[in-house]
Amino acid sequence: MAASPPAPPEAAVSTPPRIVVAGSANMDLVGFAGRLPRPGETVLGDDFVMTPGGKGANQAIAAARAGATCTLLGAIGSDAFGVTIKARLNASGVDTTHLRTSYGSSGVAVIMVDRAGENAILVNPGANSTFAGLSAAEVAVIADGDVLLCQQEIPPDTVVAAARAARSGGTRVILNAAPARELPAELVELVDLLVVNESEAAAITGTTEPDLAGLLTVAPRVVLTLGAEGARYADRDGRDETIPAYEVEAVDSTAAGDAFTGALAVAWGEGRDLVDAVRWANAAGAACARTVGASGSLPARADIDALAESQA
Ligand code: ADP
Repeated sequence: MAASPPAPPEAAVSTPPRIVVAGSANMDLVGFAGRLPRPGETVLGDDFVMTPGGKGANQAIAAARAGATCTLLGAIGSDAFGVTIKARLNASGVDTTHLRTSYGSSGVAVIMVDRAGENAILVNPGANSTFAGLSAAEVAVIADGDVLLCQQEIPPDTVVAAARAARSGGTRVILNAAPARELPAELVELVDLLVVNESEAAAITGTTEPDLAGLLTVAPRVVLTLGAEGARYADRDGRDETIPAYEVEAVDSTAAGDAFTGALAVAWGEGRDLVDAVRWANAAGAACARTVGASGSLPARADIDALAESQA
């Protein structure tokens, strides 16, 4: 097993914690129909919803709603979607001062959903793919944070550059390795905490059953989310604990992973022990799953606390 990287600065926390998300921002265009069209076919829809999304934007909103001072680094396009995405982030309390606007299309996800909940999704990264070559100001924002949170919907080199800026600035790094994609080798010694669901874990280790030892070769601390079963925390110091989910009437688990990860970053940024942080993140994921919607169902801190206390 690889040696542990330098211990993250556990004590250096601010209140509220400063979370920096380097990630994607998209517009989700969601059409609902009785069934999905086959290639070449046109199907009449029942409903249509347009909502800002992307894992970076969602997790930034989740962190801000969970009580952090949160900045999103990334890129929106110069189109009308970009204006709406930015307005949504600002209304949710996310600092967009450093969000780039690049000429052209914003990231767009075209999503079709049938009545059985089956979907087909086409994602065009648009401006997200232009988020490269971090500026001195972006590096300074990362170095000034308590926790950097990244996902895998922006260019891999940018994730590596952001993690390097965090490491040299003493900022802890959480990588939510979603969507499943090959991890850049350079990231392996830069991530302090890896967060994955079961399919992302399988993609990383190449196994069907979760292989925690395999994941711990990537990062010294790992959180594996288990949907309605809760989450598992393991680290290179030998801790391995499963933290059960909160019991809720789950109606829609869309964005539950984003609610979980954003809240986890906040709790770790507050200096909480990681098992306690995972327990609180479980409450955030469950609170999200009991409400229909994507970024609109990301819970506020008071809702997370209320659920956490009700089943303490
Ligand atoms: P993803 O959406 O990324 O696949 P999961 O489905 O594992 O992630 O969900 C993330 C977290 O949200 C879980 O670890 C759990 O805490 C919470 N969660 C998800 N679904 C439920 C559920 N049905 N009941 C309670 N909590 C849930």
